[in-house]
Amino acid sequence: MELERPLPQPITPEAKPYWDGLREQKLMLPRCRTCQRAFLYPRVLCPFCHGSDIEWVQASGRGKLYSFEISHQTFNRAWKIPPPYVLAMIALAEGPRMMSNLINVAPDPKVIRCDMPVEIVFTKVTDELTLPLFQPGSPR
Ligand SMILES: [Zn+2]
Repeated sequence: MELERPLPQPITPEAKPYWDGLREQKLMLPRCRTCQRAFLYPRVLCPFCHGSDIEWVQASGRGKLYSFEISHQTFNRAWKIPPPYVLAMIALAEGPRMMSNLINVAPDPKVIRCDMPVEIVFTKVTDELTLPLFQPGSPR
């Protein structure tokens, strides 16, 4: 199988629950037990209060489109997805923001709007790796 994109290589133990969760169709987030805030990327200390008591919680997979860019050129030959495609900053309902792609939508600024509701699409790329992509979601 030819891969469409360069893949992340999960190696850090702090992020293992995140990647394991995606493989099981769950978006897992690290959350600080001290200040109760969820965060990304996974790390050993809370970025808000520097607490080290971190738990993992399953996120809803819902959020809003915080920002986006429609790419019309590809600068890395390892990227095989034909442009235009949508780079997206997602603001998860639980608070953290994450970079992803917005899919299943026309790459058209008349259609894509900041603050539009989005939902996760678990996209299996290998047996080991599932990526969290997003598509327009229904408002709640
Ligand atoms: Zn904290």
